[in-house]
Amino acid sequence: MTEKLEGFRFFIRTYGCQMNFHDSGKMALLLQQAGMKEALDDDEADLVILNTCHIREKAKHKVYTELGFLKKKKDKRQRAGKPYFLAVGGCAAQAEGDALLAAAPFVDLVFGTQSYHKLPRMVEELFQKSNVTKQSSCLQNEEPQQFVPSRNSPSLETLKILNIEFPRENKFQFLPNESNAQGSAFLAIQEGCNKFCTYCVVPFTRGGEVSRPAAAILEEARNLAAQGVLEITLLGQNVNAYQGLAPDGTTRWTLARLLKEISTINGIQRLFYTSSHPLNFSEDLIQAHATLPKLMPFLHLPVQSGCNRILKAMNRHHTVEDYKAIIAAARLACPPIALCSDFIVGFPGETEEDFEKTLEFVKSVTYAQAFSFKYSPRPGTVACNMKDQIAEDVKTKRLLTLQDLLRQQQTAFNKSCVGRTSSVLFQRFGKKEGQILGKSEFMQSVVVNVSDPDAWMNTLHTVHIRKATLSCLEGDILE
Ligand code: SF4
Repeated sequence: MTEKLEGFRFFIRTYGCQMNFHDSGKMALLLQQAGMKEALDDDEADLVILNTCHIREKAKHKVYTELGFLKKKKDKRQRAGKPYFLAVGGCAAQAEGDALLAAAPFVDLVFGTQSYHKLPRMVEELFQKSNVTKQSSCLQNEEPQQFVPSRNSPSLETLKILNIEFPRENKFQFLPNESNAQGSAFLAIQEGCNKFCTYCVVPFTRGGEVSRPAAAILEEARNLAAQGVLEITLLGQNVNAYQGLAPDGTTRWTLARLLKEISTINGIQRLFYTSSHPLNFSEDLIQAHATLPKLMPFLHLPVQSGCNRILKAMNRHHTVEDYKAIIAAARLACPPIALCSDFIVGFPGETEEDFEKTLEFVKSVTYAQAFSFKYSPRPGTVACNMKDQIAEDVKTKRLLTLQDLLRQQQTAFNKSCVGRTSSVLFQRFGKKEGQILGKSEFMQSVVVNVSDPDAWMNTLHTVHIRKATLSCLEGDILE
């Protein structure tokens, strides 16, 4: 704990993927360990952190819009002589860096994906530079904190901190091996990507593939089990490219080997992993689905397009046939397995015929759920400079057509669960009184009515499913 941060409050708003939510959890722990407290919202905070996404243009715009709102709050707080610091982290911060500070000069700290383990030190430096030295919280009715620079203080320019380096040290070594999670937790085992799909910024914002040593992951998984976590989702941008150092210090473990070991930990009852890549889908991982009862029958395997010509232009390193062979093997190993995928429509050069191939592909595979998007050009990527960019209205039309098909498949899958039982981990209160929401073994939302919702939080139960819609199942707890 550092005295300099004690008593101040932070609030983190997270955008994007599960890895960002995982990172935000670690940031919160780091700041709490440094003496700060988590605020309920950005009004109650002295420091607001936006943990950003850069995967689509829309995600970046959301951040700038949010910064506009926060600037008004900051101006108001400054006029009252109270501290209010704004920090931007994550992928957009990594990619934009200086440009972000130039476009939003009221932001105090910009930090990238590989430097957030230094967050307490950076915040301390920021507070020091800004002359915020004594303990204060925006909620306390103390004398206003004089943080606005005096004549002897550094200029506003030098108050800014920008840290978007890719340091040599592995940040995972410096992150707390614990979590604030209850019931279900994310555990990052791998980060980064070497695949360089031509549309994607991840290799630039997250760097090359890095796998954490198995011993560190197992220790974290045991800690999670000891604090009552029942379900772990192993995370990585290419989670099945995992090749971490084995506990013997000489050999390497695959994802399947790691799953096998984690499934022996008492208390852990369900395992998921995401997101995987067809190129790294090994036989032992397929067999893990057949042999590990704790590994849930759910597979998120992005394909992006059902047309080989487009897959080649995307530099996906696999064909439609490769993908279908993996799906067939996974279904053979684990017949109830539910499939999920990601799709991009309107990639540069995609013809109507190419798009039709994607529709045919989806019809032949059938998905339980999927994420689908219009292609979004990202500066610095190969596809951004490709000829034959597709008009926005064409992309929209194709997306609506694809989503209609995917919705039909999702509804059909959900309806096939009616009359069956499902294992559900309850984690949220529903909209109506007495309702609780949980997640099935196929990642569906399940809602049930109970008399005492608090008593069921973060517990796992068998539920009889009696109704299904596109987005939700309804049922009754059997015990
Ligand atoms: S595999 Fe492709 S889409 Fe996935 S993170 Fe790597 S470059 Fe991006």
